[in-house]
Amino acid sequence: MSDDIPFDKTFDLPPGQVEEVAPGVRRLLANNPGPFTFKGTVSYIVGRGQVAVIDPGPADENHIRALLDAVRGETVTHILVTHTHRDHSPATPRIKAATGATVFAEGPHRAARPLHIGETNRLDASGDRDFRPDVALVDGQVVAGNGFTFEAVATPGHTANHMAFALREAAILFSGDHVMAWSTTIVAPPDGAMSDYMASLHKLARRPEAVYFPGHGGAVRDAPAYVQHCVRHREGREASILHRLEKNPTDIPTIVRAVYIGLDPRLTGAAALSVLAHLEDLVARGVVATDGPPSISGTYRLAR
Ligand SMILES: [Zn+2]
Repeated sequence: MSDDIPFDKTFDLPPGQVEEVAPGVRRLLANNPGPFTFKGTVSYIVGRGQVAVIDPGPADENHIRALLDAVRGETVTHILVTHTHRDHSPATPRIKAATGATVFAEGPHRAARPLHIGETNRLDASGDRDFRPDVALVDGQVVAGNGFTFEAVATPGHTANHMAFALREAAILFSGDHVMAWSTTIVAPPDGAMSDYMASLHKLARRPEAVYFPGHGGAVRDAPAYVQHCVRHREGREASILHRLEKNPTDIPTIVRAVYIGLDPRLTGAAALSVLAHLEDLVARGVVATDGPPSISGTYRLAR
């Protein structure tokens, strides 16, 4: 299913070690590897002397200490947060308290849509509901520091409040979890929404940045072409779901078994939510029908 995307899983940075990956851009890996985080969360430091930190990372003492060590003798003026999952934002208050930096992000954690009656949010534990930015960013807003200028690029889909940050001086985009080289992202309702995610991919495909630095794993090279691969990958998955529904009306577990061949069993729940994300989008477009609002336990059929 996914071999159409030219994934790059090379990433050898040990946790706690600072590495310069581009002029004026350093990265630091948190030691929180896993099926959703790859080797762990990557925090970035941009600039010299007066710097910005992108995604302080999880509330992990070793990572917080390593990040503060990395900027010793420098002033952190800006903290930018791509989104409010617990692997990206919870260290923010600690870094802010230690440095006095101003925190920039789209806003607090929120779902892409309200919960349906009787629905529970399976992603509740993954959201950092305590997070509040000092400055709430809108799409296109410019954040300037001493030697760096970021453009906030609203990229909802993985979460409703996801933002990427384009570094104008280097034509680099910090892509958070929206576009990563090692894997596609998780689009899981109610935090995520497939229609938003696809619109955000199309938006990035029109941008000029050739290199992305993501929240997990190494750089995305030839980024606009890679983004097109991500678009086609989701279109292919949508086609597979419709193909399965052509046989007969069915439920999400059956679709997951038909569409995700050889899936890591730890990712079955995420795959089910990803299929739900596609089905929500297909129902909204009038292609697929179900009884009541699209739900994880619903039965789905072609609308035509
Ligand atoms: Zn993440």
